[in-house]
Parts: sequence; C-alpha cells; structure tokens
Amino acid sequence: MKKSYTPGKYIDISNLSWHQVVELDACSRCGECVKWCPVYVQDAKESITPRDKLRAFRKIIVAQNSLRRKLINPDSRLGRLICPKLPTEEEIKQAAEAMYECSTCRQCHFVCPSRIDTVELYEALRRALVNSGVPHIESHEPMVASSKAYDNPWVQPRSQRARWTKVAKKEKRIKDIPRIVKPPKGLAPPKPIRDE
Ligand code: SF4
Ligand code: SF4
Repeated sequence: MKKSYTPGKYIDISNLSWHQVVELDACSRCGECVKWCPVYVQDAKESITPRDKLRAFRKIIVAQNSLRRKLINPDSRLGRLICPKLPTEEEIKQAAEAMYECSTCRQCHFVCPSRIDTVELYEALRRALVNSGVPHIESHEPMVASSKAYDNPWVQPRSQRARWTKVAKKEKRIKDIPRIVKPPKGLAPPKPIRDE
C-alpha cells in the first residue's frame, strides 16, 4: 500500500549506512563541486549545488533527531526557545525537489576534497523520501504514468522512441537519421514487461 507523508512525520533514514550519515555532515562548504556541476551551469540556483542539497537534508535530519527534542518537551516554553523546529512540509518538498535536480554525473564526487560519495548518498536519500511516503514531485508525474503505461519514461511506446530523429532531420538539426541497431537474426528482442 502506498504510504502517505504527514507533515511533521519523520523522514525515515534507516536505509542510509552509518557512513552515509557521516557524509551528510562531512561537507566543508568549500564550493569546489559548484564549479563542476553541469546542472548548476544550466540553472544557477544555490539549491541545486551539492553543498546545499546536503545542507538542506542535514538540517531536516538534525531537527528530527535532536537530543534536545528528546529531553525537553518541544511544546514547553523552554522547548520552544531551544529545540530545533521540525521541518515544514514546504522545506521537505524543496529538499526533495533539489535532490532530483541532478543528472547523477558524479562530477561533484570526483572533485570533492571530503570524497563524499554524493550520487550514492542522493539515491539513498531519494529512497528514504519514498519510504517515508513523501509524494512524487509534480514534474515526475508524467514519467511515473508513462512507466506504468509503457514501461519507459519517454511518454510513448518503445516503437516510437526514434521518432524525434525524423523531426530533427526535417528541421535540419541532424544530417542523417541514425541507423537503428537491430538484434542479429534469430535472437529474440527483449520481452517487454508490459504490453505496449
Ligand atoms: S566539494 Fe565536497 S566538501 Fe566541498 S562544498 Fe562540495 S560537497 Fe561540500
Ligand atoms: S552528480 Fe548531480 S550534483 Fe553532482 S555534479 Fe553531477 S549533476 Fe551536479
């Protein structure tokens, strides 16, 4: 059954290894990764940078697991003063969106002086969001629907996958239509999981 996320509920990070939890805290904010991130080059938002992805999640996880929240009633007068506030639904939504604004190219890992295994960490955090019932990101809905309907994210059957090449040739964006590699005779093509 699909889980649903209730605001204020904890993000379950039990799928993260202890090493990944430490990595969340290992960013020195040096900014080296920012110089190399191809997604940041296209859209220079701080939330896209690896350092901000990690900062946003660290903030959520620290607030949720704060010792002060465990020792002091966060709704008491003292608690309201010194306990970190739980993330709002909007903060979780923004952190989740940023986690998907990434091509998983790993450039940030290769240049990171702390050697944070960023992509493995992002994927673990994406899994944690799904496990906690955080809803799909709006812009992912067509891909989710397409995966269910066609077993691929291109919003069309596999047989139409190369259709763009005809349009590109007509608009003179490519010289020739690429040759589609066909399986050798006698070798059955992979069986689709669902009918197209
Ligand atoms: S390169 Fe590594 S340590 Fe530096 S800001 Fe990026 S993630 Fe953090
Ligand atoms: S893995 Fe993602 S965050 Fe890191 S450099 Fe590539 S696109 Fe940017």
